[in-house]
Amino acid sequence: MKFSKVSEKFTEMSQTRKRLELTAILVDLLKEAQDDLKELVYLIQGKLAPDYEGIQLGMADKQLAKGLSAISGKPQSFIDEKFAKEGDLGNVAKEIMSSRAQNALFGEEMTVKRLHQQLMNLSRTSGKGSVEQKLKIYEDLLLNSTPEDAMYITRIITGKLRLGVSDSTILDALISAFADKEHAEEINEAYNFHPDLGLIAELLRSGEIDKVRAMGPELFVPAKVMLAERLPGVHEIIEKMSGNSAFEFKYDGIRTQIHKKGKEVRIYSRGSEETTKNFPDIVRNARETFTCESCILDGESVPYNSETGEMYPFQMVSQRRGRKHDLEEMEKEVPIVVFLFDIIYLNGKQLHKVPYPDRRKILESLFTEDDKFKLATRLVSSDEKKVTAFFNEAISSGCEGLVAKNTSEQSIYRAGARGWLWIKLKREYESEFNDTLDLVVVGAFTGHGRRKGTYGALLLASYNEVDDTFETICKLGSGFTDDVLFNLPKKFADKIVKDKPARVESKLVPDVWIEPEQVMEVKGAEITVSPIHTCDYGKVEKDAGLAVRFPRFTGRWREDKKPEDATTSKEILEMFNSQKKSIK
Ligand code: ATP
Repeated sequence: MKFSKVSEKFTEMSQTRKRLELTAILVDLLKEAQDDLKELVYLIQGKLAPDYEGIQLGMADKQLAKGLSAISGKPQSFIDEKFAKEGDLGNVAKEIMSSRAQNALFGEEMTVKRLHQQLMNLSRTSGKGSVEQKLKIYEDLLLNSTPEDAMYITRIITGKLRLGVSDSTILDALISAFADKEHAEEINEAYNFHPDLGLIAELLRSGEIDKVRAMGPELFVPAKVMLAERLPGVHEIIEKMSGNSAFEFKYDGIRTQIHKKGKEVRIYSRGSEETTKNFPDIVRNARETFTCESCILDGESVPYNSETGEMYPFQMVSQRRGRKHDLEEMEKEVPIVVFLFDIIYLNGKQLHKVPYPDRRKILESLFTEDDKFKLATRLVSSDEKKVTAFFNEAISSGCEGLVAKNTSEQSIYRAGARGWLWIKLKREYESEFNDTLDLVVVGAFTGHGRRKGTYGALLLASYNEVDDTFETICKLGSGFTDDVLFNLPKKFADKIVKDKPARVESKLVPDVWIEPEQVMEVKGAEITVSPIHTCDYGKVEKDAGLAVRFPRFTGRWREDKKPEDATTSKEILEMFNSQKKSIK
């Protein structure tokens, strides 16, 4: 397929914000693909491969600007100025390619396959002279493309394609294009275990639905983690689980998925990012502790003092993420224990469909506890009194509360799904509403007075998973330390966009729009009805949405959450309703 066909569709997509229309355009495009479907799907995602393969294009704006200067014959300062004005290097590339005197292409017109191949070459180029080589590839790409193509190619390379479609919309389009609607749920489940849209696209198109159906936990492919619903009290949870409940301590650390085969161990985060390099100690310990041939384990890593048995604050583990240097020092300063609570694969067998009590038994027989790996402390009971005492024990041991686990025959491991098989109970729910929410930054308001030079407030949104949009829920100006506050413009500099991002639903117009990428943890006093916010608009009152009252930043940026992992508008509505009940 010619890439210009793809560019055309991308432009069509940029003109609508409606999910159904976006899906329809995608369906058309996907159906036109030939043997390049896989590559096409990755390019729509603005990627070259699934995230967990860790393939990065690695070219900075500055380098690309250099390339544009070479192609146009204009000084780099000219390009930089244009970039500063446009805020999008893609637009600059388009303008430059349009204004070239002879617009004839050098060679054959760019195809999807060729573009993907060239970008792969670009990503593999490393070492001495690689900057020049990468520039050469970029220039060749542009010289063989239309101006429109040049814009999208540049955006892909800078990681800012931002078509306004999430993976779930692309998956919907794939299902419409190549599968029966009745298989939609199974396909979604398969994707949660094996989040490779290119592979799923190929299998669906060739009618190999059985292969998709058979997808489950697989070694070195990070499964999306199972998530919990929430309820405000022990009584409600026991009732909801109809007496089939076990309760585990809810540790406050970092979700850790461990894959092991022979001596090879890899670690993945909650967001399916590979974090093996940040945890050499867990890798080493796992090699020693788990003597099975292969396994996939799910747990929470917590900083821990093995002498006193004390758990330390979560922030001490988060310092490790993304940190390449001084890891040995960190290992000594912050020893980590992993509390394991699930196993989904053992010695070549997938266990996700095995009920939870049996999975737990398998996990228990897998290893002997020490201060490197422990089992999540648990109580199998549906007795309110006992569970309440257990909850208090969890809190006094430094845990956040409990996670209830359904123990019925249906208690499978549901990757990526937030369902009632797991229900969390945190300390905050027991008192008034002051639970934390994970919200997405979508805009910012200029600061005045003491906040001159930075932002006065951020505009935050919840995620509407039905429409795949971000709905505003509050303006946030409290809870920042001066350091964080005055660093905000820098933190968001490369996420600022000229127009309202495609997936954002907002009545307010902030001073700058911010591409919905960053998730932050916020504490609020309560959820109230608000005419100016779009979260759950019209669901509680006709011309109003829901808002968080007195929001405060807790200081925790949720780098482990993608915007689609933020608190959903549905959850906000549930919180609003349960709040009403407790007031009565
Ligand atoms: P969520 O993961 O539900 O989106 P979150 O990341 O903010 O939200 P919480 O809502 O606080 O986390 O609770 C769920 C998280 O609790 C899990 O993702 C996991 O990291 C952690 N956790 C700690 N102990 C357990 C346990 N015993 N069983 C399951 N999860 C646990």
